This record gives sequence, C-alpha cells and structure tokens, in this order.
Amino acid sequence: MEFEPVIGLEIHARISTKTKMFCRCDNDIFDAEPNTHVCETCMGFPGTLPLTNEDAVKKGIKTALALGCEIKEFSKFDRKSYFYPDLPKGFQISQYDRPISEHGKITITLKDGSTKVIRVMRLHLEDDAGKLTHVGDGTLVDLNRAGTPLMEIVSEADMNSVEEASLYARQIQKIVRYVGASDADMEKGMMRFDINVSLRPKGEKKFGTRSECKNLNSFRSLEKALEYEIKRQTELLNAGGKVVQETLGWDDERGVTVSQRSKEEAADYRYFPEPDIPPLVITHEMVEGLRKEIPELPEAKSARYQSELGLSVADSRQLAESMELSDYFEKAFNVSGFPKKTANWVLVELMALLNAKGHTISDCELTPQNLGKLVKMIEDGAITGKMAKEIFPELFECNLEPQKLIDKKGIRVMGNTGELEKICAEIVAKNPQSIADFKAGKERALGALVGQVMGATKGSANPKMVNEILRRLMV
Ligand code: ADP
Ligand code: MG
Ligand code: ZN
Repeated sequence: MEFEPVIGLEIHARISTKTKMFCRCDNDIFDAEPNTHVCETCMGFPGTLPLTNEDAVKKGIKTALALGCEIKEFSKFDRKSYFYPDLPKGFQISQYDRPISEHGKITITLKDGSTKVIRVMRLHLEDDAGKLTHVGDGTLVDLNRAGTPLMEIVSEADMNSVEEASLYARQIQKIVRYVGASDADMEKGMMRFDINVSLRPKGEKKFGTRSECKNLNSFRSLEKALEYEIKRQTELLNAGGKVVQETLGWDDERGVTVSQRSKEEAADYRYFPEPDIPPLVITHEMVEGLRKEIPELPEAKSARYQSELGLSVADSRQLAESMELSDYFEKAFNVSGFPKKTANWVLVELMALLNAKGHTISDCELTPQNLGKLVKMIEDGAITGKMAKEIFPELFECNLEPQKLIDKKGIRVMGNTGELEKICAEIVAKNPQSIADFKAGKERALGALVGQVMGATKGSANPKMVNEILRRLMV
C-alpha cells in the first residue's frame, strides 16, 4: 500500500539572555567549568523561590509574534514532574494548558518553488535541565545548563515529507535568529528537535499511530531520523504489523532509532500550576511595543529584493539567509547603487574569501562601504572588473579605501585618454575586414576588436570606453 508520512515537530530553542530563566545566574555557560554557573534556585534547593526573567519572556513573545502567533493576555507556568539525575528540582517548569502563545503559521518554499503553510500550534516558555556526561563506569552531573531559558515551538502535524520538515526547521532557526531571541547554534545544543511521525494510506484524512524521536541536534540527523522512521513504519505496516506509540532516541553512529520507553501521557507528569510563580499577564501595549521591534523577516526581505531590486530568487534567498549578511549587502548597495553587481560581489567573491578562512560575514574585516565603493568604481569604469578581482584579496585583508589601494599599487585604468584612442585606431587600421563586417551589421565584429584592445592594454582599459571609441572610429 502507498503511505503518506505525517510529521509534527517540537523545537526547543535556548533563549539568549544574560541570566537564567528563574534565577540570576549568568546564562553564558559555554566553555564554563562545570557547576560554576549555579545557585540554590537552579540547583533545586528546598525553600528557594524562582523569579521570572522578563527578558526571556519578551524574547519569547517576539518569536511568537514573528511566527504569527496570538499572545495570551493570561498564561501561567506549571510543574512537569519527573525524576532524573540532571533535574534536581524533580520537575521542569513549563507551560501546560495556558501557554503564552498559540495559533501561528509560517510559509515554507519548496525546491520546486511552490509554497506551503505550516501551522504552529503553540510557543511556550520553560527551563532546561542539566547535563550528564557518562565516563568509564560513572556519570558526571553538570548543572550549568539547569534553569537556562527555553522556548518550545510545537507545530501542527502539517508536514508530509522530509523536505518539508527540514525546511520548516531551518526557517524556524532563521526566525529565532532574526528576532534576536536565540543564537540557535546546534553544535552548542542551542536548538534541538523532537520529531513525531506517523503514516496513513494515501488519501486518508485520519492520522495513524505516531512514534516520537527525541533530541535530534542537527538538520542532518533530523533528516536521517525522519527517513529512517518513515521507512521503518512503512515496512512494519506492509508486513501487517502495527506502529507502537513510543518514545525513541536516535543512534547517530548506527543510523537507527532506538526505543526508549512507551509513550508517556500528561498524567504521567502530574502537571500542576507552579505555586511559586505568579501567572504572566501580558498587556496589549507590551505586545504592540514588542511587535515594533521585530525586523523585516527573511521571507519578506527576499521577496523585496526580488521585486524592488530585481535580484534573482536564488540570490535574494541567500542574502536574506541571515540578518548579518543582508545588512552587509544593503550597506554595500547603498554605496554602490548597483544591486545585482553588489549581490554578486558579496555572494561570490566575498563569500569565497570568507569561506577559505572559515569565517562568516560577522568576522569580515572589509567594510560594506569599501566593497560598495569598489563595485561603484567598476560600474563607473574607473577600474576594470579584472583589476578589481586581482586586488580584491588584498582589499579584503587591508580594508583600505579601494581608490587608496589602487593608487598605492600604481594601478592605472586607461580611460578616455589619447593613449587609448591611439591603440584603438591601430587595431581598427589592422582589421579592415572586421570594419566591413561591422558596417554590414555584424555586431560580433565589434566584440572581437574590443577583445584585441583589451589584449593590447593587458586588460587595463575600461571596456565601456573602448566600445565607445571603436564605434566612433568605425563609422
Ligand atoms: P505530546 O506533548 O504528547 O508529544 P502533542 O499533542 O503536543 O503531544 O504533539 C506533539 C507533536 O506531535 C505535535 O507537533 C503534533 O502535531 C504531532 N503529532 C500529534 N499526533 C501526530 C500524529 N498522529 N502523527 C504525526 N505527528 C503527530
Ligand atoms: Mg512530545
Ligand atoms: Zn541559578
């Protein structure tokens, strides 16, 4: 039988705040010695009182707004009880039946160019657990991560392929970064995915039984685990078996999902309202104030690059990939005035040099202003494209004004000078056949002559100028 996969994602993203979710411990825990960013509250000592981090709430709201969610005027925190050595409180503080936001949606663009809306069921706030490291015959507990703020973004089961799920997850990453709510660096565990997968016969509306695979920490493992689960469930159903509702883990080395436990229900966690934290009351003014802080989002930005600047779909999307990259492009373009050429220099020449160094745009020493000036010089004919490419690696390192670097290197462009005129005249005199061809309407003949002039000047002539002079000389 032919089956259709049904996929829902739960995404946990670490909120980038100065301090933890319910205490004042420093939230900058990466590279810190174990158990140095801890206090009585996040270690779960009896008698301590949590205090909600306002900045975490605001960043959660901004993300929810960017996902098109409604922000609830009233929401509350609940205790989700379970026992584990990385959870000294014995419960996670989360939001159960009254989350801070619900009912959002985002649009993804598939490879074939079509779009699809994926609904967001809810975004809620919670705190994270600590970290266990298994060594030899023991286990080490590090509570630095305990109490760090998280937002959990739960989708509706609206995705029907690995491609859709992967695009959705990537888009969520872009959005949380754009609004400045999370760095979402997966290598640091700042963003993790739980995948819910079920199959149903093609054409069927009702959902089948799902499995849930937890804690995937890269796009690659998200895709691999989805592929694996879809294949596993297909084979199981085709062999007459039944999918068991269970919680799985992903074994990255073996490339298989492994059963961890049978599916837990809400009752297993004995959710109840957190008695030590007052409910969250979010005013309309606060929501509208935060809405104003949301920047233009990647999809809108990419659409604007296409419609206003005439950039290609691919270039627009690549530039809108991150706020840093699009900011860089826009600053450079403001100086150069030429969108396509600027996009090309950023995405091709600049990226090549950054990639070679293993750097990103944030590490770039060359200012967008100087890149913009270089592009403008090429377009104005003050320097040839060939020369620009030759000096670019040096410009990239020294970040001088392009004109200064050109002067320093003694590079000179043959503009409309007597010298260039003379070379053109010589080439024209040597090529009577080309002139006859040109006069007979063969534009290609002109190109050949331009090529000869460029050769004679070792590429230092301004091609626009050469074109003009030759046209003038040939009539
Ligand atoms: P839980 O918290 O128990 O995991 P939720 O109802 O919150 O359950 O759902 C979690 C995720 O599972 C959501 O993204 C939801 O869309 C998805 N989901 C629910 N039922 C199915 C199903 N039958 N197949 C695939 N995904 C599902
Ligand atoms: Mg779940
Ligand atoms: Zn603390």
